[in-house]
Amino acid sequence: MANETNRFQAIISHCKEYGFIFPSSEIYDGLQAVYDYGQMGSELKKNIKDYWWKSMTQLQDNIVGIDAAIFMHPTTWKASGHVDNFNDPMIDNKDSKKRYRVDHLIEAYSEELKAAGQEAKADEVIAAMEQLLAKDDFAGLKTLIEDHKIKCAISGTCNWTEIRQFNLMFSTEFGSTVSSEDADNKVYLRPETAQGIFVNFLNVQKTGRMKVPFGIAQIGKAFRNEIVARQFIFRMREFEQMEMQFFIRPGTQKEWYEKWKATRLEWHKSLGIPAEKYRYHDHVKLAHYADAACDIEFEFPMGFKELEGIHSRTDFDLKQHQEYSKKKQQYFDNDIDPATGKPYGNYIPYVIETSIGLDRMFLAVISHAYEEQDLSTPEKPDSRSVLHLPAKLAPIKLAVFPLTKKDGLPEIAEQIMNDCRSEFRCFYEEKDAIGKRYRRMDALGTPFCVTVDHQTKEDNTVTIRHRDSMQQERVAISELKRIVMDSL
Ligand code: ATP
Repeated sequence: MANETNRFQAIISHCKEYGFIFPSSEIYDGLQAVYDYGQMGSELKKNIKDYWWKSMTQLQDNIVGIDAAIFMHPTTWKASGHVDNFNDPMIDNKDSKKRYRVDHLIEAYSEELKAAGQEAKADEVIAAMEQLLAKDDFAGLKTLIEDHKIKCAISGTCNWTEIRQFNLMFSTEFGSTVSSEDADNKVYLRPETAQGIFVNFLNVQKTGRMKVPFGIAQIGKAFRNEIVARQFIFRMREFEQMEMQFFIRPGTQKEWYEKWKATRLEWHKSLGIPAEKYRYHDHVKLAHYADAACDIEFEFPMGFKELEGIHSRTDFDLKQHQEYSKKKQQYFDNDIDPATGKPYGNYIPYVIETSIGLDRMFLAVISHAYEEQDLSTPEKPDSRSVLHLPAKLAPIKLAVFPLTKKDGLPEIAEQIMNDCRSEFRCFYEEKDAIGKRYRRMDALGTPFCVTVDHQTKEDNTVTIRHRDSMQQERVAISELKRIVMDSL
C-alpha cells in the first residue's frame, strides 16, 4: 500500500512536471478538486475523447453525437429527480468537524481490515453497508459505524453526528437584477450530461430520421459539489463525461444491457491495457431510475474503483420529461411485432446508458503507462521515467532531432517535420545531448524519436528510436511516415 501511495504521488508529480495537469489557479494556492490540463495533458485528453467519439459514433451505424448546453431549464432537474434525490449520505465527526461520505468512511475501514489480513470481516462490513444503503437505513448505518468503532482519521474519535443527506448540485442565478431568493431564476450547472440527450431525444430522432434502436452520444462538462473531493482527478468538482444513451424497444433492455456491458469492456481492452486491470461491479443499491446497473472498475493506484457506469435506465427519464413538459416523448415503431402481426406502434423507448468519466479515463491511462525504469548497469546507476502510452493516445507521435545545430542537419530535420506534421503531431528539438532529448520524450510518452546525422546527408536515412524497447534502427526518411501511421 505504501508503495502504491508513493507511486500515486510520483504520477501526480510527473503530471505537473511535464505539463499534463496543474492545480487550478495555482498562483492563488489552487482550488480544491479543480484541475487544469496543460500543454501535454490537453493533447492526451483530446486523443482519448477522439478515440471514444470515433468508436461510439463514426464506427456505429446508428449512433449520432450532440453537444448540448451546460445550463438547462431548471424543471429538467426536478423531472430527472436530481433536485430531490441527488444526495449523498454524510456524517460529521464532532471533534475534528470533518465531514465524510458514509460509504467512503466504511470503505476505508474495510480497506484497513483487508490490510490487516481480515478479508472476511472486510467483505462482511461492505455487504452490510450495501444492504443498508439500498434501504436508505441511516440509523442502521450509524449503528454499523458505532459497532465497528470506526474512527475519524483526524481526531481519532468515534464522536459522530447523525447521518444527513447533502445535495450535490451547484446552482446559480440567471439575469442580473433578480434576487437569489427567486426560485424561478435558479439554474443548475448540470450534474450529468445525460439529461441534455433526453430533452433532445425527439429533436434528434425526427431530424435525423433515426429508427429505434439508436443512440445519442455526448462529451461535455459536468459539475458536482463533491464533499470528499480527493484523489487527484479521480473525484473532481468540475469534470467531463463521455455518455451515450441507447434508445430501445421496451422489453429488450436485458439483452442490450448485456451487449453494452461487453462492448464497453472490449473498448477498454482495445487500448492494450491488460484485462486483469478491469472488473465488473454489479450494483446492489440501484439509482432511482435504473432496473440494472454495473460499474466497470479499473485498478487505479489506490485500488479498484469505478471508471465507467452501464445503466439500464428504463423509460424513467423520458416518462418524467413527458409528464413535466406535457410534451409527448413517444416514438412510432412501424416494425411488425411477430406476436400480433401488427406494428409495435407508439411507445416511450427504454434506455441503456454508458457513462465514463473522461478525467478518470485519463488517470487510468496515465497511471497504467507510468514507469520508473531502472536502467542501471554494474558500471553505472541509471533510470528513466517513461510513459508507455498507446501511440494513438500519445500527445506527440514523432520527435525530430538534428544531431548538431550545423552542417545542414537542422534543415533536413525541418523538412521531415514539414512532411509529417499535417498527418500527426511532431516535435522539434536541437538543444542538449541526444540521450537527454530521448529521455524527455520518454517522459512525455512519445513513441518515436528520429535523429538526423551526417550519414543522413549521404543516404537519406535516419536513426529511429522506439520508446519502449529503446531499440534504434536505421530507416529511409521516405519510410518514416508509414512507420508512425502504422502504429496509430
Ligand atoms: P462515484 O460513485 O465514484 O461518485 P457515480 O456512480 O456517482 O461515481 P455516475 O453518476 O455513474 O458516477 O457518473 C458516470 C461517470 O462519471 C463515473 O463512472 C465517473 O467516471 C465519472 N464521474 C462521476 N463523478 C465524478 C467526479 N466527481 N470526478 C470525476 N469523474 C466523475
